[in-house]
Amino acid sequence: MNPLYTTLPTTIFETMSARARATGAINLGQGFPDSGWPQDVLETAATALLTASNQYPPMPGTPELRRAIADHYRAHQNIDLDWQTEVTVTSGATEALAAALLALITPGDEVVLFQPLYDAYLPLVRRAGGIPRLVPLAPPHWQFDDAMLAAAFTPKTRVVLINNPLNPSASIFDRASLELLATYANRHDAIVISDEVWEHVIFDGAQHTSVLAIPALRNRSVKIGSAGKIFALTGWKVGWMCAAPELTAALARSHQFLTFTTPPNLQAGVAHGLAKPAAWFTDMRAGFQNSRDNLVTGLTAAGYKMLPSAGTWFVSIDLAASGIRHTDTVVADRLLDAGVATIPVSAFYAEAPVTTTLRLCFAKHDETLDAAITRLAEAL
Ligand code: PMP
Ligand code: GLN
Repeated sequence: MNPLYTTLPTTIFETMSARARATGAINLGQGFPDSGWPQDVLETAATALLTASNQYPPMPGTPELRRAIADHYRAHQNIDLDWQTEVTVTSGATEALAAALLALITPGDEVVLFQPLYDAYLPLVRRAGGIPRLVPLAPPHWQFDDAMLAAAFTPKTRVVLINNPLNPSASIFDRASLELLATYANRHDAIVISDEVWEHVIFDGAQHTSVLAIPALRNRSVKIGSAGKIFALTGWKVGWMCAAPELTAALARSHQFLTFTTPPNLQAGVAHGLAKPAAWFTDMRAGFQNSRDNLVTGLTAAGYKMLPSAGTWFVSIDLAASGIRHTDTVVADRLLDAGVATIPVSAFYAEAPVTTTLRLCFAKHDETLDAAITRLAEAL
């Protein structure tokens, strides 16, 4: 057996959700919403299931969805994509990450990653034979600077994997940070894989900047998206990769032997959703921002100190600033006993973890958030 898999722990999301189910705790751990998905997207997929083909769609995705992805990014992010040579549909962003890392890493290549990192990244990088070079980001702003990149890049750097907006820290890398990254990527001839699954879930009027909107990164980057996050349908597992034609050709070869394709009716639903008017996306953001504010206001009134949340469905408690001297894993255990599941952010580090922040998912009905606030207030 491959020791990578025999020694890997079960992912923190599954662990905390299983414990929440077993104890009946309110689950603010694993990130999934309890509302907010568009009914017409479900109906389009249901109709397609019953009336359209259920046989293998084309390997890179249905023409309808690939066109919709290109049109969507042209309208929302001012990015010009050729739907035929620059877009590949995958079974979730997770498959896109696996396909991209397997296609672009030659064993022994160094891969620059930023901590905290989404939990799938490191096992996938290692399985592809990549050597991780970790850039540690620190609360409250979780940003990198020139010196941090200078320390991470070496002549062996071939790939950089970023997540923007960043789960779990709910922070955003702005255009200036991406430009800085571009200078290093160009200097080292590295490819940037940019996991942008949270691109639409951003607050307070922020604008998302994609790597593909940075001229110096346009032809050396892979942009990854996911319908799960855009339409609050995390179980759907429809994702995609957008990249220049030469890169896309390599990505598609990797994708064809992972899943080959993705259920056609779900592709139809997503194509329909991506064409929604801009107002739908604005309203969606406003709804989640409202939930974020409710949780932050309630927990702040209870005495917790909260870190900023610029995007995603998450916000973190700053344990140290809240006067809690235990580590995040100890606090997460205690809060589970108090009836609320959370995620210790140290689970997203491979080395030198920050142990003073605890992630909570606010994509829940107000009543659920209120009940959680009451329990968390009593636990403090
Ligand atoms: N990347 C990040 C940063 C995520 O937060 C998630 C899911 N929460 C994924 C990838 C996985 O997306 P999908 O469900 O489309 O595989
Ligand atoms: N991305 C989700 C989160 O951050 C969980 C995804 C999963 O359970 N694999 O909570």
